[in-house]
This record gives sequence, structure tokens and C-alpha cells, in this order.
Amino acid sequence: MRVTTAFKRMLRLPGASVIDVSFGAEGVIVTIRLRRRRRVCSRCGQTGRFLEIHDRRVKRWRHLDVGANRCVIECCLRRLRCPDCGVHLEAVPWARPDAHHTRDFEDVVAWLAQQMAKTPIAGLLRIGWDTVGKIVERVVADHLDHRRLEGLIAIGVDEISYRRGQRYLTSVADHASGSIVWCAPGRNAATLQAFFELLGERRHSIRAVSIDMSGGYQQAIRENLPDAEICFDPFVRHEALPVRVGCETPPPGCRGSPAKLRAV
Ligand SMILES: [Zn+2]
Repeated sequence: MRVTTAFKRMLRLPGASVIDVSFGAEGVIVTIRLRRRRRVCSRCGQTGRFLEIHDRRVKRWRHLDVGANRCVIECCLRRLRCPDCGVHLEAVPWARPDAHHTRDFEDVVAWLAQQMAKTPIAGLLRIGWDTVGKIVERVVADHLDHRRLEGLIAIGVDEISYRRGQRYLTSVADHASGSIVWCAPGRNAATLQAFFELLGERRHSIRAVSIDMSGGYQQAIRENLPDAEICFDPFVRHEALPVRVGCETPPPGCRGSPAKLRAV
């Protein structure tokens, strides 16, 4: 078996043909070719010959290690001029736009970030501490379901402390799905106002909001959702979803006890 074939089977990079393998100071350098001929804008996904070829550049990505060696993927790509997005490298299936690591590498970092702190990940994978955060942001943005803010009916707003109670996050959960749909630093009415501004007209589908007694969220809720029912629940805690929350007529998925509620 040829070395290029062996690496093609081993790395399994989608849409790529391995054309050369060499060993350098950086580790194993695998030169690949993008099999797709069609021009695809990496920003908006438009395709077609109206995307003019501006020039060509060699781009490198760090991939998962091969044995004890770092693995670097190298490919010559077209830079395309998109009328909507400007000049950017064409889209590739093995890496996210602007990433310096392959999707496989980034997905491993994101999974590890759910299990451990940044510092051991940076040491284990031999990447910078800041790089861990940037990769996680990119993976989360890639997997975020943009429909999560559609058709919300009953939501729960809660504050979560971190750094030993010195800092706070406000999180909003959809009681129907049990998922957290939004999160931002801060814990007052202004923080929640940003959520309602993001929702825009979609906020009018919300019928009930549960909050705990201590939250300073009431002002933002009353201003943005004057007709919604506000339910106080001292047990609302999003890490223990589905939360104890209730209303006069509990929405689907709500396990709260109406006796605990005090509608305002
Ligand atoms: Zn574009």
C-alpha cells in the first residue's frame, strides 16, 4: 500500500485526496487536495462561477496527532471574491472557516472542555490556553440550533454564580424542551433585556416566565411581556432541569406544583 493511501484511510478527511506525506520539524505534514471543483463561499455558502478566483494560498491546519507526532494538514486553496462577503478562502469540509485546526481536532477539544478545565486540555493537546476558548466558541456556534428561540411559551430565568459567587450568569430555559436557550453575563433587568431584544417580535409567544424570588428580572419581564404570567419559584435551578415551576395551567413538560406558585 502506498503511504498516501495509508494516510487517506487513517486520517479520513472528508472531500480530500492525500497527495504527499513528509516529516518535518512540525511533525507529519500531510499535503492534500480538495476534490470538489465547485466554488463555495466559506461565509455564506453560495456556490457558482460568479465567485471569481482572486488568487491561491497554501493553508495549514493542525490535525489530531499521529502516534507521538503532531500532524499538520496542508492544502492549496482558492481565494474567492464573493459579492456579499468579500475575498475569503473557499470552504473546505474538514475545517471550519478561519480555523487553524481541523473539525476532528476542534470537536475533541470541545468534548474535553465538558470534562475538564482549560489548562489540562492545553497541556494534553499541546495548544495555547486561549486557543481552547476560541475553539469551543467556534464549535458551539456551529452546533447552535437557531430555531431554539422560535415558539417559546414558558421560560425560566435563573442566575448562576461562578468564581465563588463573585460573578453571575443569567440563563433562560425553555420549559417545553428542558434546554437552556440563552445565557449572558450579569443578573439584572438589563441583562434580561438583551434576551428580549434578541427575540424581537418572537417574544409575544411567551405566556409564562418563572423566576426565583431574588432575581432583579421583573422589570424587564413586565416591560417586554405585559400579558405574561410571572411565577415565583424558590427552587428554580437550571442545572436540575426540569425545574419545579408551575402556573395556573402548567405548560407541557412543566412538573411544578401549582401550590408553590404566586402569580403576580
Ligand atoms: Zn459569500
